[in-house]
Amino acid sequence: KRAVDRYLKREVLGEGTYGVVYKAIDTKTTQVVAIKKIRLGKQKEGVNFTALREIKLLKELKDPTIIELIDVFPHKGNLHLVFEFMETDLEAVIRDRNIFLSPADIKSYIQMTLKGLAFCHKKWVLHRDMKPNNLLIGPHGQLKLADFGLARIFGSPDRRFTHQVFARWYRAPELLFGAKQYGPGVDVWAAACIFAELLLRRPFLQGNSDIDQLGKIFAAFGTPKPSQWNDMVHLPDYVEYQYVPGQPLKTLFPTATEDCLDLLSKMFTYDPKARISAQQALEHRYFSSGPPPTEPALLPRPA
Ligand code: ADP
Repeated sequence: KRAVDRYLKREVLGEGTYGVVYKAIDTKTTQVVAIKKIRLGKQKEGVNFTALREIKLLKELKDPTIIELIDVFPHKGNLHLVFEFMETDLEAVIRDRNIFLSPADIKSYIQMTLKGLAFCHKKWVLHRDMKPNNLLIGPHGQLKLADFGLARIFGSPDRRFTHQVFARWYRAPELLFGAKQYGPGVDVWAAACIFAELLLRRPFLQGNSDIDQLGKIFAAFGTPKPSQWNDMVHLPDYVEYQYVPGQPLKTLFPTATEDCLDLLSKMFTYDPKARISAQQALEHRYFSSGPPPTEPALLPRPA
């Protein structure tokens, strides 16, 4: 049976960074799946093969904290990626005004996020496009990271679709300064922004351009001093900024505990070399001190 005949196409779920996403039934397993149709450039046959090979490697990236890539097949000049279907995402949870998130709930969501990051970083795979709607939530409340590794394979998602501008709010300062070489720290910064968003129930640093994004970061944490971040001045888009002082984290997040603020500040470290790793973050006392994280099945979710 041809790969394309294995799946019964149902409704469109939405339009994402790379193309349309469909709901479908996998006739082989009767499982409900989400199929991401990725438009590939026409004249770039070589790229397609490279993409296919690299995507196949992503199939090996299996963990309960990662959306499983079930199958990959090319069809009519598009690449089709078949993923396990998920009910909702963290963005829907954060935006839902009927949902109250307790400190234990927030701890649970951010712990699951960091577990997914730590797993992929251990395998040297970066996400690069972490945002609340890439954190999908399954039927038992388990959070799983979606779109891992896609950004590198298909290039930086172009920002053609208006909703894509929101990804800027999660960009690490080194990316905003045009760093060409960067590491897992970009995902940790994004996770910190998501952590902050869980606490505030609105996006924390809402820049309306890349420059403005840096401005928002500086207004919160203060302009970085070269002593804090040695390599900063060598980054391609680095420009000197007028000094602005930061604000105490306690003022920015009045409801957060001391442990929570300490972890947050370590994730929001300017110098990516000094920034806490996902694994270290999981070992932070925030996760061992009370209250314990809520069991996934008991987490509040949209009706
Ligand atoms: P973006 O590029 O903005 O992250 P995606 O391409 O990931 O968007 O997804 C587009 C739409 O498809 C979204 O509405 C998302 O909720 C839905 N979607 C993506 N992956 C899945 C999945 N595994 N299960 C269910 N819905 C999904």
